[in-house]
Amino acid sequence: MARSWRTKLAANAAGVPEGFESLVAPLFRGTTTIFTGARAAVEHWDQRRHAYSYGIHGTPTTLELAGRVSNLEGSFATFILPSGQAAIAAVCLSILSAGDHVLLPDSAYGPAKGFATEILERLGVAWSAYPPLCGEAIHEHLRPDTRLIWCESPGSITMEVQDVPAIVAAAHQRGVPVALDNTYSAGVLFDAFAAGVDISVQALTKYLSGHSDVFLASLSVGTEALYHQIGTTLARLGLAVSPADCSLALRGLQTLAVRLDAIGVSALSVAQWLAARPEITCVLHPALPSCPGHAVWQRDFTGSTGVFSILFRPEIDIENVLDWVDRLGVFKVGYSWGGVTSLAMPYPVVKRQFNVPEGHLVRLHVGLEPTADLIDDLQSAFQKMSASVGSPSP
Ligand SMILES: *Cc1c(COP(=O)(O)O)cnc(C)c1O
Repeated sequence: MARSWRTKLAANAAGVPEGFESLVAPLFRGTTTIFTGARAAVEHWDQRRHAYSYGIHGTPTTLELAGRVSNLEGSFATFILPSGQAAIAAVCLSILSAGDHVLLPDSAYGPAKGFATEILERLGVAWSAYPPLCGEAIHEHLRPDTRLIWCESPGSITMEVQDVPAIVAAAHQRGVPVALDNTYSAGVLFDAFAAGVDISVQALTKYLSGHSDVFLASLSVGTEALYHQIGTTLARLGLAVSPADCSLALRGLQTLAVRLDAIGVSALSVAQWLAARPEITCVLHPALPSCPGHAVWQRDFTGSTGVFSILFRPEIDIENVLDWVDRLGVFKVGYSWGGVTSLAMPYPVVKRQFNVPEGHLVRLHVGLEPTADLIDDLQSAFQKMSASVGSPSP
């Protein structure tokens, strides 16, 4: 009997020719994997063993992205998650149980600290902040119940470059794993696994995707044991990612090198120009000696990227700083970074327990506009500021 057109609608195959080859990784969508038969059906998160089962664990597009990030970072395996924040939360939920303690650098990404305060504490997990520049003195902050140490280098907003190898050495002596938020380096300018970390997380939202149009993260592990510990937790958290978003990140990867090169050079020029301005007391750019941890950056990093912060003279009040930001035109005011557009974000209150910065802070992200246009934009914002705050003290 001829099948109804209605049946054709539900499962139609036009029989297109085989043999299509493209430079582009194919975009595979799908919630349901079709098995070769009833006995072949399996549902398991471990795609190294079982490849494809339920679509939530990832299609070939997801695994292509995971595999490429894993190759770049030199991980044992890499998972793809829907956002950087989700990856940070997933690491904590995979490793920590009630009664445990976790250490976060004082300079950690704000929402990571928020997760610790608002979620981990409720689940019976204690946390504390440690001074990001402590290096091997991290052992003074370890408690008998500490089960995880986070590093983030350079730190968010205040940009401290951490001595990750020293922290790892001290942590491993006590059997405590170290997870690094490696977003700044795009996973390529700092070799996290050579430094000994157990877990490296990146917000692919930033440089790897690179065009401010996708949320995504990688969660890379150094050992098979962590692969199983984190994989079994992820399987129950339901953090599905869109294969279409993965394909955007795969496109971003192809131009990551040229974008990072251009952004790195331009941002350093802008930072150096800002360092000579009388209104600015300090430029927190890892490649400048004024940045805390600069010597460690020189030792451990192979480049710098586009995000850095500036501190205004303490006598310049917050209203003047906010007006300065508002006079910028090429720099837009917005969160996130790593795209092609330059951004400025004032942080009137920087919440820190250690080394509270003096003077008001603005974080900049340098994108792909010509450096001369960026400097011109900053200069005209300063010109009007000088008129309103008077000439700087000598
Ligand atoms: C942006 C960012 C995150 C969070 O990434 P999302 O994808 O925006 O959730 C985490 N860590 C650092 C250092 C970041 O800059």
